[in-house]
Amino acid sequence: MVDYDVIIIGAGPAGAVSSAYLNNKGNSVLVIEKQIFPRFVIGESLLPHCMDHLEESGLLDAVKKAGFKKKKGAIFNSENKKCEFSFSEQYSKEWEWTWQVERAKFDQVLAQEVQNQGVEIKFNTSVKNVSCSSTIQEVEYEDEGGDIKTLKAKFVIDASGYGRVLPRLFKLSEPSDIEARGSVFTHVLENSRQEKGEENIIVHSFENNKAWIWIIPFPGGRTSVGLVGEEDLIKDYAENNGEKFKKLISTFEWLNERFVDVPLLFDPKMILGYSVGVKQMHGEGYALCGNSTEFLDPIFSSGVTLATFTGLKAAKLAHQQINGDTVNWQRDYEDVIKKGIDVFRSYVKAWYNGDFGKILFAKSIEPQFKNQICSVLAGYVWDQSNPFVKKHKTIIPVLAKVISIKEKAGKN
Ligand SMILES: Cc1cc2nc3c(=O)[nH]c(=O)nc-3n(C[C@H](O)[C@H](O)[C@H](O)COP(=O)(O)OP(=O)(O)OC[C@H]3O[C@@H](n4cnc5c(N)ncnc54)[C@H](O)[C@@H]3O)c2cc1C
Repeated sequence: MVDYDVIIIGAGPAGAVSSAYLNNKGNSVLVIEKQIFPRFVIGESLLPHCMDHLEESGLLDAVKKAGFKKKKGAIFNSENKKCEFSFSEQYSKEWEWTWQVERAKFDQVLAQEVQNQGVEIKFNTSVKNVSCSSTIQEVEYEDEGGDIKTLKAKFVIDASGYGRVLPRLFKLSEPSDIEARGSVFTHVLENSRQEKGEENIIVHSFENNKAWIWIIPFPGGRTSVGLVGEEDLIKDYAENNGEKFKKLISTFEWLNERFVDVPLLFDPKMILGYSVGVKQMHGEGYALCGNSTEFLDPIFSSGVTLATFTGLKAAKLAHQQINGDTVNWQRDYEDVIKKGIDVFRSYVKAWYNGDFGKILFAKSIEPQFKNQICSVLAGYVWDQSNPFVKKHKTIIPVLAKVISIKEKAGKN
């Protein structure tokens, strides 16, 4: 009756984790991937929580062997203020480090390992149409030679990232409640950078949090630099091959001339309109994961971790369903995912309205609070024992207000 137990659309981190888990559990899995790997995609700074998902899906050892640069924390700068988080000082006491990865290589390592474990991946093959029902799902795709073919599966997982295949086909996309922003970014070669085995992501905010720059180091002096801001600002900085962006990073005083005269490894790329929501994350015979669900904003580097979390969860529930269990997708999938996304949503909003900055750059902050916030920044946004998770909507504005009042009164 069917060709595969599960067909997965997309071989990014969400698709890789999903397919590895399902294959390990004895399901027949096909991944259909539009592009040929290695391919560029943005999203280079991981969070410690994704290590749990890579481990559980049997992919961690392959990534460990690939020699990525370790990331042990994050540094936030604004004007002359600095706040550094070390993942070893966190409340949730789970993974204390992760990696910064060139995604072309990272995603290829994952896809290669998934294939080594026995998953079939059709590259250079694009899903064109999907019809779903309670029993059989039909996936129509264009193969490498341009022929249109159809395959049947018991379940479909949409891990198509920015392609958002099922949200497009089933009209599931919704506008985001996060203001539309964009980004312009490139990779540079810093010949004089002192190579360390580990380095943190650096985030510089400016123009009252309206814009910020990321710096993400990779091995061999390669560094990712990007600017995020409102769409008009980004279009302006990206015009004429990113001329204004190049000037910004080479003259920006807080970068201490770090990027003066460094060669760009590719012309700056621009991405706009990435914040998007979704009406539902599942339906008869399918589930969405990764960026096919909701994507908020890059500020807290949450995208890949949400992709691996949702990829793993979708795979677990699909496995149960295929084995005859009744699965409550709303309660056990969508509601759980939304809980984590909503935590990040509060922090993203607090970043742009300035409340989070008031806490980060306060003259002093309770070490216990800092550790609890650090666990959110490490991706442990489902740990309800952490007050900075559980009370995410109120705790940041209240704490920001208390800090403001104390600082005005000169008490801190
Ligand atoms: C400016 C910016 C900076 C970011 N920085 C970070 C960061 O530092 N850290 C972080 O974790 N996240 C970051 N992100 C988010 C990150 O890019 C995504 O969340 C992440 O890549 C999602 O993974 P995924 O597996 O869902 O999708 P993807 O990685 O996009 O993979 C989806 C795959 O599906 C394939 N596909 C698409 N359409 C089809 C089709 N029709 N048929 C078959 N295959 C298809 C694509 O070719 C692709 O390979 C950033 C995002 C932006 C916009």
